[in-house]
Amino acid sequence: MTMMKAAVFVAPGRIELVDKPIPPVGPNDALVRITTTTICGTDVHILKGEYPVAPGLTIGHEPVGIIEKLGSNVQGYQEGQRVIAGAICPSFNSYASQDGLSSQDGGCTCHGYKPMGGWRFGNTIDGTQAEYVLVPDAQANLAPVPDGLSDEQVLMCPDIMSTGFAGAEAANIKIGDIVAVFAQGPIGLCATAGAKLRGASMIIAIDGVNERLQIARQLGADVTLNFREVDVVDEILKLTGGRGVDAAIEALGTQTTFESALRVLKPGGTLSSLGVYSSDLVIPLGAFHAGLGDNKIVTSLCPGGKERMRRLLNVVASGRVDLGLLVTHEYKLEQIVEAYDLFGHQRDGVLKVAIKPF
Ligand SMILES: [Zn+2]
Repeated sequence: MTMMKAAVFVAPGRIELVDKPIPPVGPNDALVRITTTTICGTDVHILKGEYPVAPGLTIGHEPVGIIEKLGSNVQGYQEGQRVIAGAICPSFNSYASQDGLSSQDGGCTCHGYKPMGGWRFGNTIDGTQAEYVLVPDAQANLAPVPDGLSDEQVLMCPDIMSTGFAGAEAANIKIGDIVAVFAQGPIGLCATAGAKLRGASMIIAIDGVNERLQIARQLGADVTLNFREVDVVDEILKLTGGRGVDAAIEALGTQTTFESALRVLKPGGTLSSLGVYSSDLVIPLGAFHAGLGDNKIVTSLCPGGKERMRRLLNVVASGRVDLGLLVTHEYKLEQIVEAYDLFGHQRDGVLKVAIKPF
């Protein structure tokens, strides 16, 4: 068998299933047979042509699968083992990753800066919406799935959970903090779960969809606010006695959510931004206290690597949080165009879709 099915970007508006050669396995690679993958909001931006990738690139960056073939240098794993790998799939060779930032592994040496971080799967190399994916730097990236966990239970680890939890970690939430989480899509829901695990005493979840707010409660939100029904900033200031929240996590990437997050911060509070923005942000003087608020604004991109994945898998295995409930729909890989249509239009209460190649 030399060919496989893969969902590739063709042109704006077109992601199609095509036949592609199964890639050869280099000494540091692993070939993983995908058992479950999923579609991310970023993939929809790629589909619409809002985030450019090379035509013919296989899309997808959230793999759960089985090691089919290991490169000769890759130690400590076996063929046939169930594994995941993080969405970014860092090489750990860049200055940024050597400095502890596994996601900023872009490897650009000329200017030392790449705005899109170091994201590789389905961005700069073939991704996971296929029968097989080649994992580069496999020894740094493969994480075995603990026995007894389903694909759905661990499907959020490579991206959504790592990103959402990173938002709570970057906010440096202390036990007893009050935290607001703006937007309760999959990443915002994971940020809510992360805030709970970090010991927040009150988590205020904000969204415009009541079903999502319901799930936010299941994952740890104490108060939910529908921005279509209330003035969110007023409500949060009331809930905190005018004091503001210790941390506000932004999980959408819009001016409104960013600005609201800034407006509800206490003096000295932290705005932890997870959204991917597609236009310039404006920081109003009032919301910014003219620069005198002692506030911190921090951003995070999905941390990767096998140790990050091991920790996230342990969170799932320990039963601390159940993110399987974010998987609302299942499709075969052959139906991926249909799955994009449902997910892209956010129909039928979809949060995440499980895509099964086999
Ligand atoms: Zn993603």
